[in-house]
Amino acid sequence: MSMPGNPNVMPPPEVVTVETDRVACDGGGGALGHPRVYLSVGANGQVDCPYCDRRFVLKAGAHAAAH
Ligand SMILES: [Zn+2]
Repeated sequence: MSMPGNPNVMPPPEVVTVETDRVACDGGGGALGHPRVYLSVGANGQVDCPYCDRRFVLKAGAHAAAH
């Protein structure tokens, strides 16, 4: 059962498409920024920033860390 106008609904996280499996995130700077962290895209092709909840998705066709 959904409640129209529920104020507790969280906005969807920002999704950033990347072309490499190593990404750096600093929150974009400004008031919402955070110390720069480096994230590795996992085997599922995406990783969430633990600071700002941005979701980095490996671009289709890009190669993850292949063995
Ligand atoms: Zn971040």
